[in-house]
Amino acid sequence: MDCIFCQIVQGKVPSDTVYEDDEMKAFRDIHPVAPTHVLIIPKRHITSLADLPDEETPLIGRMARVANELARKEGVARKGYRIIISSGEEGGQVVPHLHMHLLGGRKLSDRLC
Ligand code: 5GP
Ligand code: ZN
Repeated sequence: MDCIFCQIVQGKVPSDTVYEDDEMKAFRDIHPVAPTHVLIIPKRHITSLADLPDEETPLIGRMARVANELARKEGVARKGYRIIISSGEEGGQVVPHLHMHLLGGRKLSDRLC
């Protein structure tokens, strides 16, 4: 499996990890687009949101809880932040391992895309 995020989970590729539990890992994006730019991923390889089995939908809620917790830790929760999950090519997903972006620390664009 040459998935870059699986390699990060396995510790084969270094990452600036900010959160980890049995199920998830969160680390700083290598090309941040905001002062806070963290990626929250499941440790298990799931290619995209479109590939998430219906019965695993609660995983997204747990990822959002981690994002909220990290937003508080980063000091961006009060002013506001954005979470993004891109799915598939037209959705703008580049890395084919489900991930949630947490962006904050500056005024983000009002535009969605
Ligand atoms: P996507 O466009 O798929 O939603 O976002 C993928 C994100 O992963 C991009 O923001 C990109 O900068 C980030 N990324 C890609 N490779 C690596 C890596 O090896 N390490 C880290 N920390 N981030 C990465
Ligand atoms: Zn993977």
